[in-house]
Amino acid sequence: MKCKVCKGPAVIRLRSHNLALCESCFLDFFYRQVSRTIKRYRLFDKGDKILVGVSGGKDSLALLDALITMGYNAVGVFIDLEMGYHSVESKEKVEKIAKERGYPVIIRSISDYLGVSLPVAAQEVKRPVCSLCGMIKRYILNRIAMDEGFSVLATGHNLDDECARLLGNILDWRVDFLARQDPLLDEEEGLVRKVKPLARTSERELTAYCIIRGIDYVQGRCPYANKPTSYFYKGIMFQIERKMPGTKLRFYQGFVEFKREYLTACSNTEKQELTRCERCGYPTLSNVCNFCRVKERIEQRRDE
Ligand code: SF4
Ligand code: ZN
Repeated sequence: MKCKVCKGPAVIRLRSHNLALCESCFLDFFYRQVSRTIKRYRLFDKGDKILVGVSGGKDSLALLDALITMGYNAVGVFIDLEMGYHSVESKEKVEKIAKERGYPVIIRSISDYLGVSLPVAAQEVKRPVCSLCGMIKRYILNRIAMDEGFSVLATGHNLDDECARLLGNILDWRVDFLARQDPLLDEEEGLVRKVKPLARTSERELTAYCIIRGIDYVQGRCPYANKPTSYFYKGIMFQIERKMPGTKLRFYQGFVEFKREYLTACSNTEKQELTRCERCGYPTLSNVCNFCRVKERIEQRRDE
């Protein structure tokens, strides 16, 4: 198999793009794709200060590496959820790339904000760990971004994640969720702009990128992950893609264009007004934000 661009030995075949590429031409292709996503959806530009949420996994580490290599002003941020071995290993991978490549990375622990680890917090408020995880990470990441003057918060969600989420939202006709599914969520009062520069890049392309760039990432899954429905949807999309290469990209791109044209206008009319949390100032629909409610509950339990 020969590289379609330089005719050297190819290392990867991308049926969705009808391409076979060598290592060097694949990296050019990868950066071009990320750059197209950034420009097509107007995510950010070279003047922005970008905070990249890194988990130690391949997608987020590849995103940090790619943005810095492409000349963007990007800084990684790792939130240690203190979930035992998995968190220790994830943190090690982040510290390793930061040290070896000189990448700037901010490291914070959930205890700095809540006083306890994520599993203990979940136990104290009697909620499943996963139901707290997303809310707490979003809160802390937004707070760091706002406090430290970042204009954008970027996450490593890839094309497969977005297609699985889209399929699930369509199957249940969750119109409000569909209206908010976008590679760009603009800044609002108290909320930083959120972007997904890898939304048009597949998981397979990300694995190849990490191998070629020598990025060491955490392989194991979070101990609380128990085969969510999104894995099932990813499997279905994989079958469709195998029969009809390029479907995932068409599915996602077509949706974003359609949604931006029609769905956003419908949902804006019903947009709920956010106020500020009376404890911490975070935008919320009620007097006290979810994060402060959890924090108060933990403090009450400690005093009992
Ligand atoms: Fe958080 Fe792990 Fe649950 Fe994912 S599986 S939401 S990382 S606790
Ligand atoms: Zn609050």
